Amino acid sequence: MANLKPVQQIIQAKALMMGHTAVKQPLPTNGLDIISPFLLLHHFGPTKVLPGQDPLDVAPHPHRGFEPITFLYQGGITHKDSRGNIGDLVGGDVQWMTSGMGIVHSERASRTFLEEGGVMEGIQLWVNLPSEKKMMQPRYQDIKSADIPSISEGEGKVQIRVVAGEYKGQRGPADTQTPIIALQIEMKAGGQTNIQLPKHFNAFAYLLSGEVIANQTETARSEQMIQFDPLGTAIHLSAQSDSRILLMAGQAIDEPLAQYGPFVMNTQTEILEAMRDYQMGKMGML
Ligand code: MN
Repeated sequence: MANLKPVQQIIQAKALMMGHTAVKQPLPTNGLDIISPFLLLHHFGPTKVLPGQDPLDVAPHPHRGFEPITFLYQGGITHKDSRGNIGDLVGGDVQWMTSGMGIVHSERASRTFLEEGGVMEGIQLWVNLPSEKKMMQPRYQDIKSADIPSISEGEGKVQIRVVAGEYKGQRGPADTQTPIIALQIEMKAGGQTNIQLPKHFNAFAYLLSGEVIANQTETARSEQMIQFDPLGTAIHLSAQSDSRILLMAGQAIDEPLAQYGPFVMNTQTEILEAMRDYQMGKMGML
């Protein structure tokens, strides 16, 4: 197969607690700081809970300088932020938030989920912003599942939802600040697909479940991330079992990185400014 993006490595997610939420984190891990512009991935759940229990319950906290994106696979989340946005997400919905100069938000189980209980599962992904956009006005994109175009291949064995960027004639609804392609892929056992991507884009595929063979040689399983080399223009995936994959590709942001907790800037001085601005209430209140 011509022009494949070589597999650089396969990374096992580590299990850790964020507050009282159990998450799997393949990025960053030891030996892998960043797949620019992608900074961090948390896979939460699938967690089954009884009515009245909130497996998430993330209290108000600030962000500056990047985009926290939530792909909700199952369950229900209510988002609230200091700019007055309220979002109710159900399975299949995507929340694309641009923190820019600063926003304070909370993420909790929705009222419906609390009443009914059920399974909560999702991914939160942090995407960096280039220096000229780190202090832009915050933006909130509430993307409903029905507005995400889907491509069917291999007699229905492969479903590809285009969340961001252009892919095989479909355009994802998310408006991105740098060139990014976001694909949610579901494959039945035996399904295969050839993912065409722009040259020089960094790319990874994270497996929420299942088992795939990448580029016909490398096997990856549930809770593993495949990092691809930016060279080449294609990734071949074949499913050994029913699999769910988040595939992200994007143009690297080659700038210095200074990060402290929920702030991602270019210099240490900017981090101190972010901490001060948050304490002074400049990112708003919730
Ligand atoms: Mn957050």
